[in-house]
Amino acid sequence: MKAIRVEQFGSPEVMQYADIPEKDVVSHHVIVEMKAVGVNPVDTYIRSGNYSYAADMPFTPGFDGAGIIKKTSKEVLNLHVGEKVYVTGKSSGTYAQEVMIDASQVYPLPDNLNFDQGAAIGIPYATAYRALFHKAKAVADEIVFIHGASGGVGLAALQLAKMAQLKVIASAGSKAGMTLVQQLGADYVIDHRKKDVVEEVMKATSGNGVDIILEMLANVNLVDDLKVVAKGGRIIVIGNRGSVKINPRDLMLRDSLVSGMLIFNTPVDDMKRIHKSLYEAFKTECVFPIIWQKFILEDAASAHKKIEHSRALGKVVLIP
Ligand code: NAP
Repeated sequence: MKAIRVEQFGSPEVMQYADIPEKDVVSHHVIVEMKAVGVNPVDTYIRSGNYSYAADMPFTPGFDGAGIIKKTSKEVLNLHVGEKVYVTGKSSGTYAQEVMIDASQVYPLPDNLNFDQGAAIGIPYATAYRALFHKAKAVADEIVFIHGASGGVGLAALQLAKMAQLKVIASAGSKAGMTLVQQLGADYVIDHRKKDVVEEVMKATSGNGVDIILEMLANVNLVDDLKVVAKGGRIIVIGNRGSVKINPRDLMLRDSLVSGMLIFNTPVDDMKRIHKSLYEAFKTECVFPIIWQKFILEDAASAHKKIEHSRALGKVVLIP
């Protein structure tokens, strides 16, 4: 079968389209024929060698995807050949025509979603859900500032927050991104390329600040986040690409909390609960993954360049 293989860390071009042997299913696993593959920023960090987790060489990248079950091991009783599913987590690598993955990381694809949308669920939606409800413990009528709302995680968070009747301030870095988040129901939209983000957030909240911040680029924004969080507010660091110096007095003054989160740290039972809740959320009209651009699997390098260098407008997917 065809798959992307990486034999050395480096630029997107290290991803080679190659023939690899088909896998035999091992116990507690299933084999899924991939119809679409979700591309996440973490795939680019691992490929470049700039991540705390270093894959063993050679490897096939990718954590997310959607497709049809082709084989199950005899221990797997809840999944069946022919079922439409999405997958998320460590596996033989989803940038491939087939993936072998532990059955616990395979979820039914909601009927109203296509494979492209299924490939966009795993990391982005589970991250948004966990950040908003497990970490920040968001409740209706609170104000959440999604700082970086135009990408995979941000759009998921925006939709889930609106479903839970929160008020949403959303930021994006392009006109098209700002329009998109507005169309999806953001109550107030901010351009995060401008210098007046603090003033804008305080204006939007009549000087009170926000209850929750979901932060996609903490090394750039954390200092300002500490100034716009309300008393008792919670800042959840989802994305970060460097270090930052803060004054802890800003936290004391507001009784505020900063928490990091990494989706791969999610306890197994919490992950099951998250995907069960997402399944229900997708039945509603207001939660649906948004696809920005599709590339053929062979052109995975262009997909990585796209998310590394362009202003986001949803998810990038690969078609095997
Ligand atoms: P993505 O689809 O590539 O989107 C990136 C987002 O970051 C876009 O909304 C982008 O906005 C925004 N951004 C760019 N510059 C910004 C700035 N100065 N301030 C605020 N936001 C800014 O990526 P994603 O999948 O949504 O992931 C977002 C971040 O979270 C990435 O760093 C990713 O590695 C991380 N992440 C972490 C976890 C975890 O478990 N902790 C899970 C998933 C993702 P524009 O393009 O419109 O400027």
